[in-house]
Amino acid sequence: MSVLDHTQALSVLKEYKERDGLSAEQLLDEQWSGGLTYNDFLILPGYIDFPAHKVNLESHITKKITVRTPFLSSPMDTVTEADMAISMALLGGIGIIHHNCSAEEQAEMVRKVKKFENGFIMDPIVLSPQHTVADVKDVKEAHGFCGIPITDTGKMKGKLVGIVTARDIQFQSDDASTLESIMTTDLVVAKQGITLADANRILFTSKKGKLPIVDEAGCLVSLLARSDLLKNQNYPLASKSPSSKQLLAGAAIGTREDDKERLALLADAGLDVVILDSSQGNSIYQVEMIKWIKANFPQVEVIAGNVVTREQAATLIAAGADGLRIGMGSGSICITQEVMACGRPQATAVFRVSEFARRFGVPTIADGGIGNVGHIVKALALGASAVMMGGLLAGCEETPGTYFFKDGVRLKRYRGMGSIDAMTKVNSKDGNAATKRYFSEGDTVKVAQGVVGSVVDKGSARSFLTYLITGVQHSLQDIGCLSADAFHKAVYDGQVRFEKRTAAAQLEGGVHGLHSYEKKLYA
Ligand code: GDP
Ligand code: GDP
Ligand code: 5GP
Repeated sequence: MSVLDHTQALSVLKEYKERDGLSAEQLLDEQWSGGLTYNDFLILPGYIDFPAHKVNLESHITKKITVRTPFLSSPMDTVTEADMAISMALLGGIGIIHHNCSAEEQAEMVRKVKKFENGFIMDPIVLSPQHTVADVKDVKEAHGFCGIPITDTGKMKGKLVGIVTARDIQFQSDDASTLESIMTTDLVVAKQGITLADANRILFTSKKGKLPIVDEAGCLVSLLARSDLLKNQNYPLASKSPSSKQLLAGAAIGTREDDKERLALLADAGLDVVILDSSQGNSIYQVEMIKWIKANFPQVEVIAGNVVTREQAATLIAAGADGLRIGMGSGSICITQEVMACGRPQATAVFRVSEFARRFGVPTIADGGIGNVGHIVKALALGASAVMMGGLLAGCEETPGTYFFKDGVRLKRYRGMGSIDAMTKVNSKDGNAATKRYFSEGDTVKVAQGVVGSVVDKGSARSFLTYLITGVQHSLQDIGCLSADAFHKAVYDGQVRFEKRTAAAQLEGGVHGLHSYEKKLYA
């Protein structure tokens, strides 16, 4: 038979008992292959009948929280503080703020994320007519904005008498002038009870920067900012609380008594999701902490871990975890497997734990070892709902630390939280938070589980994340799946097929045979 028409091709295909390649279960059969890493396999392509930009990456990161981009940034002091967490949330993921700092500092970072964007601002900064230009400048210095409603009492619920904005103080050289003399009193306001959409319309048509909301008596109850309409327009994927429109904020804590006080401060700052940060999460400490959080802060979602086996996962799921973080020793800065002899190759860990956790509706996060777009897709293929990245995001402008040059290359420091460097950082208030992750705070000799290194400048996180999102969409297009959900289903149904990669196959799949080349990842 030399020429096949379409029907013939399909009927010949049906003669094969199985689809080409391996199912995920066959791929991960440890009896034959031992544990696998992301580089040990490939995903076979499927059929494309949609454009890449249509691929929907919406995923659960906990039982209750869904995000549009399945990315989390690691709770590490060279990766996630407020600026990074804001960028992560604007691009549809979530940043997990590290805890190698005092509880107050960490809560302040959470507050900064929550205050970045708002629907109705329920607790705006308010001044009185007797305050001065200097007070407004102080607010601008401390918070970055200076659109301030003025009430007779200088507080919320006082009678609204005016508003001061940047333009009112622009040419004021006398810092001692009272606001009474410079505030705008001709106000456009809206009445309490108005919907956000209607209030936004007034803001839009009034061409003002702020819209104060007042009650029947003309007392201030909240405020709307025009700049938030722009943020909403510019970042359509942003992860936000549906009611407040504030960005989602995540933070990590340990499992000690004082972490309970830390969590209380974080919750007060508006925390949405907490990660119990441990390299081996299957412990009585985590079980007790999960139960305590569920009893005391039911509004905060809890991601427990880390785990790499079904047995570890079972304990934490039974304790009430809303999500699980998977990975032990796969991180780029990590020496846990070398020192502790504990861990598991990441692809196997992600598949085994995710397959188990999904039976209980608990989403999983593949944490550590994500080095490129392909690794993200492979983690999703193995059942993870989302990925957590440290090294891949380190070196972005929004990460903590300053750039430096070495051998003509622009770099930023990136260190493991179990490195001696991080573990011996003395915090201003509560000692060595980083040591807790590795259960070594009381030890006289600190055993390192991580290293200190550097990574190249990655530019703005917002551009880099956009590249990662677009890359994942193109990959799912090649595989023939229109959404992350459809991808998971197709993997478990055996429709998505895999192939193992020999050492030669890995060489073949990389750039080879060139004298030299430049590797530019996106433009
Ligand atoms: P301004 O014109 O100097 O007030 O600044 P913008 O309106 O450009 O930006 C204010 C941003 O800060 C908006 O995203 C607000 O949601 C946010 N924000 C958070 N808390 C407050 C607050 O207490 N007052 C004001 N004016 N903005 C706040
Ligand atoms: P979206 O417009 O696609 O984000 O749809 P949503 O259901 O999230 O928003 C419903 C309403 O809230 C619309 O009128 C939006 O313009 C408005 N909205 C969404 N995010 C914000 C925000 O951050 N600030 C303000 N003031 N309004 C918002
Ligand atoms: P990466 O994305 O760089 O490959 O890995 C980041 C992840 O490594 C973090 O999210 C965290 O789970 C883990 N990690 C961070 N610091 C250390 C460390 O010092 N030792 C170990 N074993 N893991 C670490």
